[in-house]
Amino acid sequence: MTNKIISVKNLVKNYGNFEAVKGISFDVFEGEIFGLLGPNGAGKSTTLEIIETLRQKSGGEVIVDGLNLDQHPNEIKRIIGVQLQSSGYYPDLNLVELIELFCGLYNRTIHPHELLEMVNLKEKAKSRYKELSGGQKQRFSVATTLINQPRVIFLDEPTTGLDPQARRSLWELILKIRENGTTVIITTHYMDEAEYLCDRVAIIDSGKIIALDTPDKLIDNLVASGFERTREVKKANLEDVFINLTGHTLRED
Ligand code: ADP
Ligand code: MG
Repeated sequence: MTNKIISVKNLVKNYGNFEAVKGISFDVFEGEIFGLLGPNGAGKSTTLEIIETLRQKSGGEVIVDGLNLDQHPNEIKRIIGVQLQSSGYYPDLNLVELIELFCGLYNRTIHPHELLEMVNLKEKAKSRYKELSGGQKQRFSVATTLINQPRVIFLDEPTTGLDPQARRSLWELILKIRENGTTVIITTHYMDEAEYLCDRVAIIDSGKIIALDTPDKLIDNLVASGFERTREVKKANLEDVFINLTGHTLRED
């Protein structure tokens, strides 16, 4: 993993007088799952949306697959996959019709049923978006990011609000997408999620990156600094209890 697919240098975003992103720099390597972690308001979505060409930056440089954002935003759009907010889907079209609509917009031909199979929604092909459960909606919106066969996809808090089963099902989908060769950039404020999914993470707070490394290395550094948990660590947590009792099966149909 040495090929840089995204390079961000000194990125700045001001909203009026407010500096939301304060000169951050990071690289994302091809084929990795890269996490942007941080509390609400840290600047994660702003950063993502600038790279996605959906928001204007105030300063700095963004390169995606060798393309400079300032000169080649349209070329960048062609090689990235962006997740829409749910309001972006026509409520009365079924999933196959929605995929066909996106195919038309991207000028691509793909088989809707294959895509739905990939995200475990084949049985919902004739359902409308608004009839899906929360987890199904998220899996569908992840599916739509893949329609243009992008080099890199952006997922902004994809598991927020999902139950533990749906969350794990989405994790497996994200791993599968990466296995197929797509780079993934994900934002989250769930640390267990980041630890499970991400090869490297940048921790962002008040518009600045305060740490960037593999989850393992960040944990080792903390331990090496003399940190100790105040409570003894058990071999399982409450989520393990919950999943063990209720099973991995999705509860959404
Ligand atoms: P995160 O995704 O990490 O929660 P955001 O990127 O959404 O953070 O927001 C970063 C900061 O910028 C927040 O303080 C937010 O209130 C502010 N902000 C985001 N969008 C706008 C906007 N369109 N106008 C003004 N301030 C904004
Ligand atoms: Mg956000």
